[in-house]
Amino acid sequence: MKMKELHIKTTKHSEFIDITETIQRNIPKAYSGIAVVYVPHTTCALFVNEGADPDVMKDLGNKLDKLVPWKEPYFRHLEGNSAAHIKSILIGNSVTLIVEEGTLKLGTWEKVFLAEFDGPRQRKLWIQFMG
Ligand code: ZN
Repeated sequence: MKMKELHIKTTKHSEFIDITETIQRNIPKAYSGIAVVYVPHTTCALFVNEGADPDVMKDLGNKLDKLVPWKEPYFRHLEGNSAAHIKSILIGNSVTLIVEEGTLKLGTWEKVFLAEFDGPRQRKLWIQFMG
Protein backbone atom coordinates (compact mmCIF):
# COMPACT_ATOMS: atom_id res chain seq x y z
CA MET A 1 0.00 0.00 0.00
CA LYS A 2 1.22 3.47 -0.87
CA MET A 3 2.66 5.73 1.82
CA LYS A 4 0.55 8.75 2.79
CA GLU A 5 1.88 12.19 3.57
CA LEU A 6 -0.08 14.47 5.91
CA HIS A 7 0.55 18.09 6.83
CA ILE A 8 0.08 19.54 10.30
CA LYS A 9 0.43 23.23 11.06
CA THR A 10 1.61 23.87 14.59
CA THR A 11 0.75 27.20 16.20
CA LYS A 12 2.95 27.47 19.30
CA HIS A 13 6.60 27.20 20.18
CA SER A 14 5.90 24.07 22.22
CA GLU A 15 2.69 22.08 22.15
CA PHE A 16 1.19 18.61 22.02
CA ILE A 17 -1.38 18.13 19.28
CA ASP A 18 -3.89 15.27 19.30
CA ILE A 19 -3.58 13.83 15.77
CA THR A 20 -5.64 10.67 16.38
CA GLU A 21 -8.57 11.74 14.17
CA THR A 22 -6.25 13.03 11.44
CA ILE A 23 -4.59 9.62 11.26
CA GLN A 24 -7.90 7.76 11.53
CA ARG A 25 -9.32 9.70 8.56
CA ASN A 26 -6.42 8.52 6.41
CA ILE A 27 -6.77 4.80 7.09
CA PRO A 28 -8.41 2.84 4.28
CA LYS A 29 -11.82 1.47 5.36
CA ALA A 30 -11.18 -2.27 5.11
CA TYR A 31 -7.51 -2.18 6.14
CA SER A 32 -6.21 -4.42 8.93
CA GLY A 33 -2.53 -4.46 9.83
CA ILE A 34 0.14 -2.11 11.12
CA ALA A 35 0.41 1.62 10.49
CA VAL A 36 3.79 3.19 11.10
CA VAL A 37 3.53 6.95 11.57
CA TYR A 38 6.82 8.80 11.16
CA VAL A 39 7.67 12.46 11.57
CA PRO A 40 10.61 13.50 9.33
CA HIS A 41 11.71 16.46 11.46
CA THR A 42 14.38 16.73 14.12
CA THR A 43 12.65 19.05 16.58
CA CYS A 44 9.31 17.34 17.04
CA ALA A 45 8.17 13.88 18.11
CA LEU A 46 5.32 11.37 18.17
CA PHE A 47 3.88 9.41 21.07
CA VAL A 48 0.76 7.68 22.39
CA ASN A 49 -0.58 8.68 25.80
CA GLU A 50 -3.58 9.93 27.75
CA GLY A 51 -5.88 12.27 25.88
CA ALA A 52 -8.72 12.53 28.39
CA ASP A 53 -7.25 14.92 30.96
CA PRO A 54 -5.40 17.86 29.31
CA ASP A 55 -3.43 18.33 32.54
CA VAL A 56 -1.39 15.22 31.66
CA MET A 57 0.03 17.08 28.64
CA LYS A 58 0.61 20.22 30.74
CA ASP A 59 2.52 18.13 33.29
CA LEU A 60 4.53 16.47 30.50
CA GLY A 61 5.43 19.84 28.97
CA ASN A 62 6.47 21.29 32.32
CA LYS A 63 8.55 18.23 33.22
CA LEU A 64 10.32 18.20 29.84
CA ASP A 65 11.12 21.91 30.25
CA LYS A 66 12.66 21.13 33.66
CA LEU A 67 14.63 18.17 32.32
CA VAL A 68 15.84 20.03 29.23
CA PRO A 69 15.89 23.83 29.72
CA TRP A 70 15.89 25.92 26.51
CA LYS A 71 19.32 27.37 27.29
CA GLU A 72 22.27 25.64 28.90
CA PRO A 73 25.72 27.24 29.04
CA TYR A 74 27.32 24.17 27.41
CA PHE A 75 24.97 23.89 24.39
CA ARG A 76 27.03 24.37 21.21
CA HIS A 77 24.52 23.92 18.36
CA LEU A 78 24.50 27.20 16.36
CA GLU A 79 20.76 27.18 15.64
CA GLY A 80 20.13 27.63 19.36
CA ASN A 81 17.45 24.92 19.51
CA SER A 82 19.38 22.07 21.11
CA ALA A 83 16.65 21.61 23.71
CA ALA A 84 14.12 20.86 20.93
CA HIS A 85 16.47 18.29 19.37
CA ILE A 86 17.07 16.60 22.74
CA LYS A 87 13.35 16.42 23.61
CA SER A 88 12.68 14.96 20.15
CA ILE A 89 15.31 12.27 20.76
CA LEU A 90 13.94 11.47 24.23
CA ILE A 91 10.41 10.88 22.92
CA GLY A 92 11.11 9.47 19.47
CA ASN A 93 10.02 10.20 15.92
CA SER A 94 7.63 7.36 15.12
CA VAL A 95 4.78 5.28 16.52
CA THR A 96 3.63 1.82 15.47
CA LEU A 97 -0.16 1.48 15.56
CA ILE A 98 -2.47 -1.51 15.24
CA VAL A 99 -5.35 -1.11 12.78
CA GLU A 100 -8.32 -3.47 12.73
CA GLU A 101 -10.86 -3.20 9.89
CA GLY A 102 -10.07 0.45 9.27
CA THR A 103 -10.06 1.50 12.94
CA LEU A 104 -7.07 2.39 15.11
CA LYS A 105 -6.78 0.06 18.11
CA LEU A 106 -6.04 2.29 21.09
CA GLY A 107 -6.69 1.98 24.80
CA THR A 108 -9.69 3.78 26.28
CA TRP A 109 -7.74 6.89 27.27
CA GLU A 110 -5.08 6.76 24.57
CA LYS A 111 -4.56 9.32 21.81
CA VAL A 112 -1.76 9.83 19.31
CA PHE A 113 0.11 13.10 19.79
CA LEU A 114 2.50 15.17 17.73
CA ALA A 115 4.91 17.01 20.02
CA GLU A 116 6.14 20.35 18.69
CA PHE A 117 9.30 21.62 20.37
CA ASP A 118 10.40 24.44 18.05
CA GLY A 119 7.32 25.87 16.37
CA PRO A 120 5.25 27.24 15.01
CA ARG A 121 6.02 25.37 11.80
CA GLN A 122 4.48 23.38 9.01
CA ARG A 123 5.12 19.70 9.80
CA LYS A 124 4.88 16.57 7.68
CA LEU A 125 3.79 13.12 8.78
CA TRP A 126 4.35 9.95 6.82
CA ILE A 127 2.10 6.92 7.28
CA GLN A 128 3.12 3.55 5.91
CA PHE A 129 0.68 0.63 6.08
CA MET A 130 2.16 -2.83 6.48
CA GLY A 131 0.50 -6.21 6.24
ZN1 ZN B 1 18.78 22.77 15.27
